Amino acid sequence: MNHNEVKNVDYGFRLSGKPILLYQDRSLAADESTHHMEKALRQMSMEYYTLERCLQCGICSSYCPVHLLKANESFSPRSFIQKTRLGLLDLSGDELWMCTNCGHCQMVCPFEIPLLDVMASLRHLIVEQGAGHVPVSIKSSIASIASFGNPWKEEPANRVKWIQESGISQSLGTEETPIYLFLGCFTGYDRRARQTAEAAMHILQTARIPFKIMAEEEVCCGDTVRRVGDFSTSEKVRKINRDIFLKNHVKQLYVFSPHCFNAFQDMFVKEPECEIQVVPLLELIFDLLHQGLIKLNTYQNTRVTFHDPCFFSKHRGIIDLPRQILDSMTGIERVEMEHYGKNSLCCGGGGGGIWRDIKKGERLSEIRLDEAINCGADILVTSCPYCLSMLEDAGKGDEKYRDIEIMDIFELIGKGIRDENN
Ligand code: SF4
Ligand code: SF4
Repeated sequence: MNHNEVKNVDYGFRLSGKPILLYQDRSLAADESTHHMEKALRQMSMEYYTLERCLQCGICSSYCPVHLLKANESFSPRSFIQKTRLGLLDLSGDELWMCTNCGHCQMVCPFEIPLLDVMASLRHLIVEQGAGHVPVSIKSSIASIASFGNPWKEEPANRVKWIQESGISQSLGTEETPIYLFLGCFTGYDRRARQTAEAAMHILQTARIPFKIMAEEEVCCGDTVRRVGDFSTSEKVRKINRDIFLKNHVKQLYVFSPHCFNAFQDMFVKEPECEIQVVPLLELIFDLLHQGLIKLNTYQNTRVTFHDPCFFSKHRGIIDLPRQILDSMTGIERVEMEHYGKNSLCCGGGGGGIWRDIKKGERLSEIRLDEAINCGADILVTSCPYCLSMLEDAGKGDEKYRDIEIMDIFELIGKGIRDENN
């Protein structure tokens, strides 16, 4: 096809009020550097029409955490939308990778601009079609997920080996139907995140809840890989996991991570025939405490603050549940940071942030730790393996953060379990 002859389609893009006419076909134009953006816009023309609704009010930018970092002061979702609209976004730079997919911009936008879909579509063009720059660490994580089912080229068997070695018994040998737990990559392979899973399994055992983990079979949930734009790999792991769930006749799937929760919520919306209910494990443990099936000791006068994972709070509205758990613990005084609930400050780990190498002094998690110290907390508690990792990394080797402990909520509960439960 001769591009010069077909550069005549009005997709509704305007520059200074005049239509920008684009190629009709979907092939790359001859001059790649000048036509990447045209290609991007053509491929996401649905989203592009939606972008026309953006009035450039800037509300999104005033809530975006990225510009709080000195190095990224100029980043703003408002101008991001504008540049996309005008075809001026530079796909060869780092700008597109700064977004952590926290969802704050989309949540506050009065015109419901699907900023996260736009972000994912543009990243998709870069990742799958080579239209720009992909950070090396992201490239290697997605390649590993495509080949090994996890971001670190780990053997599938290692996902479950540590559980066998730790002596945690699944299903307790009862006749009762077990609940199914989905570990996720971080909880399966990361030493620190495994401790949170161990604590959660200890709680379940205390309450005599039989459980089963399909860890040797399960693969990455696909949330982050989709958000960085690799739709093919995300689709591949989605199908593998779906088949495993169907084979095991899973009706209810309990997940540790808010990222897995989001991925499977979206997946089962697309596949209603699966009829699987996805539940955060946090919810079950709240019920067990509420029903008195787990008894806790009195904690020693401790001030605790809760860091809301964005993928629970902003993405799914789960805000009260962890606070109700903390409030039910005798001896725990809950205090809030400057930003909390839906207005919480992102740790920087979502949307591929967990795989990026970000220099000390330029991390959102450091701002978050400062907020925790400023509110006088002894312990910063969270409920997401990404948040836990980002926050702990931020505090490492820094005297300023020496006196604040960082924990997962399951660990805090586990610490308080009374012997009389057993
Ligand atoms: S809040 Fe919505 S309408 Fe306003 S600038 Fe941002 S994306 Fe555009
Ligand atoms: S999702 Fe979060 S980080 Fe990304 S542009 Fe929106 S507010 Fe900023």
